[in-house]
Amino acid sequence: IFNDISEIRNVERMKSAFVATVSHELRTPLTGIKGFISTLLSDTEGFFDDEARHEFYTIIDQECDRLTRLISDLLNVSAIESGRALEINYTPVDPTSLIEKTVSVQRSYTDKHELRVEIPERLPRIMADEEKLEKILTNLMNNATKYSPHGGEVVVRAVREGDFIKIAVRDQGIGVPEDKQTKIFERFERVDTRDTREAGGAGIGLFLVKHMVEAHGGTIGVESEVGKGSTFTFSIPVEPKRTAAGGGGSA
Ligand code: ADP
Repeated sequence: IFNDISEIRNVERMKSAFVATVSHELRTPLTGIKGFISTLLSDTEGFFDDEARHEFYTIIDQECDRLTRLISDLLNVSAIESGRALEINYTPVDPTSLIEKTVSVQRSYTDKHELRVEIPERLPRIMADEEKLEKILTNLMNNATKYSPHGGEVVVRAVREGDFIKIAVRDQGIGVPEDKQTKIFERFERVDTRDTREAGGAGIGLFLVKHMVEAHGGTIGVESEVGKGSTFTFSIPVEPKRTAAGGGGSA
């Protein structure tokens, strides 16, 4: 009897790569938090003024947020894996103001990139989960700047296409090799190069993004050329599809 264990081997390999990346991703913010707290604690002479202290507290605060985000992403991955569908809380959303809000938050994180919004026509309100849409956009924009180490433009373009709103995030960064363009949407998949290692990440962002888009009844894909840049495009229905059960509103 022959048993094909290549799939098991594959899962084992992925698990150990995952433990290594996640440990690294958890350790980085912790090292920062620990470092700044130790510095503050050891400053018994009042060497640091209020402004410096405020800056340290701000960094500690941001690093705590980063840890919380990573842990919540991991919990979501595990929920999806155990077969639980993502719950979508539909409310009316104005895509234009959501995009502008998200882009201006991202702008405050970078001075190396030029972030632009291109919305050539008036977009209708859509029924969607605002929090999830914001997460999708934030994630794609965050990747766009993270994987453009030399700066450049990041453009968010939104248009209506029939019953869908199509949103594209275009960067001028390192690009994704063709053979990885489908893989990067799978969990724990990263492109392993010096640039991506330096950028850091656990390889779960796009996996969650894809699930959030699909839970809305939309699709996502990427077009990219190594060294030139990438465009991640997703579409979201203007109205959620009504299910056979007649739900539609909060399926
Ligand atoms: P992470 O960034 O945490 O590794 P993601 O799931 O968000 O995880 O992305 C998976 C991989 O896809 C990244 O590791 C990177 O190799 C590649 N990638 C994602 N976005 C971009 C982009 N805008 N440009 C180039 N590569 C990207």
